[in-house]
This record gives sequence, structure tokens and C-alpha cells, in this order.
Amino acid sequence: MSKKKKLKLKYIYRRALLLIILVLIFAGSYIYISGADTRSLKKIGYTTDEISFVINQNKVNKKVLKRYPHITNLNDLVHNKDYNKVNLSKYLDIWSKDKDINTIVVIVNNDIKYPYSEKLVTIVNDKYFILDNLDRYMSYDIEDTSKIVTNVNCNLDKEAYTDEVKTDVSDGYLMIVNKYYKLAEDYHYGELVTVDKKYSVNNNDKLEKNTYEAFKKLVDAAEKENLHIRSKSAYRSYNTQKNLYDNYKKTNGLEWAEKWSAHPGNSEHQTGLALDVCSKDTYTIQKFSSTKEFLWMKDNSYKYGFILRYPEGKEYITGYNYEAWHYRYVGKEVAKYIHDNNITFEEYWAYFVNK
Ligand SMILES: [Zn+2]
Repeated sequence: MSKKKKLKLKYIYRRALLLIILVLIFAGSYIYISGADTRSLKKIGYTTDEISFVINQNKVNKKVLKRYPHITNLNDLVHNKDYNKVNLSKYLDIWSKDKDINTIVVIVNNDIKYPYSEKLVTIVNDKYFILDNLDRYMSYDIEDTSKIVTNVNCNLDKEAYTDEVKTDVSDGYLMIVNKYYKLAEDYHYGELVTVDKKYSVNNNDKLEKNTYEAFKKLVDAAEKENLHIRSKSAYRSYNTQKNLYDNYKKTNGLEWAEKWSAHPGNSEHQTGLALDVCSKDTYTIQKFSSTKEFLWMKDNSYKYGFILRYPEGKEYITGYNYEAWHYRYVGKEVAKYIHDNNITFEEYWAYFVNK
């Protein structure tokens, strides 16, 4: 190799070495600088896990965290089901050690104008919290704040019959009819069929077709256990209900009538999806609660799609006295949910059906 060539090679080596050194310096300082945030976060008190989780989500969040003192429950915050990484600084603006993380997330995510309070914590953590009802929850004052969501969802912040809305009959088997939702005079759901004498103590009871099919299965199943459940009162027209209510009012007074009977248009019986039952042996509905048939219905009616519509202890929600005899067809799946969760149809409808 000539001397000239050797010199050229040496020169190339030097250039290459210089380049490598420069790259190393550059990379090293990059790593050092980018690690600076992590180091300062560690100084504040964050664990490596917390830091890497937050950084992986959003690089900006590293800088956000540095602006705040150590967030002791950062893990709870970032693992909240509704945590949104772009809102981190807003969460931290209202964060403090003793506050409920879930409430903070709900307030920020939904731009809620109410400041953090214990009442708000109770409300947003209720299983059946509905954001659209928030203003009503907040302006509803009762001592037992744990009941705010249920009561407002079921319209108890309004007077019965004063703010009546037409029932949305497109809800089908899940339509609601009560003291707040009313049917048109000529309405009933689907096809009404006559209940066979075998299943009724009357001659001409009528039920919606599928409700009747489900009721027959229920009665047949109970018969196998030597229990005799019968229809005592099924579909009622608007006019039948009107006469009934007027008679109750005349005979027993207004207060009694309100607790036991619906206004015309507000009776579930008008849908064709509800019925009162009795035991073949005791016959009257009033005695039904003390029959073996009732005990069976309590445990089994949901398997056929029926719910006890006006349960004991829920009178303040349904607006009716406990009626052991009144059942409503809602389909098996919904009936099971309502049975298993011990809620009323009002509560179910507000949360799962209302659009
Ligand atoms: Zn009834």
C-alpha cells in the first residue's frame, strides 16, 4: 500500500471514530435529559411503576405530574374505568388526598359545574346514577342522601299525576305505566287473547298473547307441585279502570283509592301485560300473600318472565301499597335481573330502558 493510501485510510478511520463519539454523546445526553423528569418524579415520591405507566400513556403527563405534589393514589386514578389521559391535569387540579377518585373523574369528564361535595360523591357512586338527572339530584333534598338517585330516577321529586307523560309504547314488554306515565284511552299492547277457564277464576279474562303463553307455563309448573294459581283480574280497558277507580273513591274515599287503584290510563292492567292472581282455594287476592302459591310465585315467577310489581318495602317508589297478587310480564331476562337485584320496575326502567 502506498503511503498516500495509508494516510487516506487513517483519515477515514478518524472521521468515523469522531462520528461514533458524537453519536454516543448525543444519545447519552438525550437519555440523560429525558430521564430528568423521571428522576424528579421519583424525588417527589412516585414509584417507577407509576411513572412508567403515566409516561407510556402520554409524554406530556410527565410534566403535568411535576407540577403537583405526590399524588398518593395515582394508581387508583389512572386505573379508574373512565380515566382519560388527556384530562390528567384537570383531575389533579381538584385532587386531594381525602377525595373520592371516581367522583373527581366524573366531574372532570363531564364538565360538571357542581363543586366536589359529599352529596355529589354519594350521587355519582350510586349504581344507578344517570348523568342527565344530575340537576334534579342536586336540587332534591332528603336526609338520607343514599336514596336521592333512586327517588329522582323514579320521579319522586315530582308530584304523582301532575307532570304526566305519555308512555313510550315502543318499549314493548318494557313499557312503563304508573302515576307518571299514562296510556292513551284506546291503547293495549299487541293481541289480546281470552284466558282459558283452566287458568282463570273468571270467564272472560284477557291477556296479551305472549304474556298469556308465559302465564300458562307458570300455572302448569305450579300445578306440578300441587299449587293452583289462577288469574283473578287481567286486562282492563280504560273505561273499566275508570269505573273501578270512581267506585273506590266513592266507597272508600280518595286517599284509599289513590293507594290501591290507578287512575284510568295509568293502570298496567290496560296494557294486557299485567294481572292479579289468586289461589284457586282461597280465591280472593287479599288472602294471596298467606298462601303457598304466593311463596312459590315469590321464588319462581321470574323464571317465566313475571315480576312482583308492587313489592313490600318499596311502596314509596311504586306509589302503591304492597300487592302480593299483582304481576307484570317483562320477559325472563329482565325479570331475573329485577328479582336478583331486588329493585322495582321503576328503577330498572329509568336506568336501562328510558331513552
Ligand atoms: Zn293489579
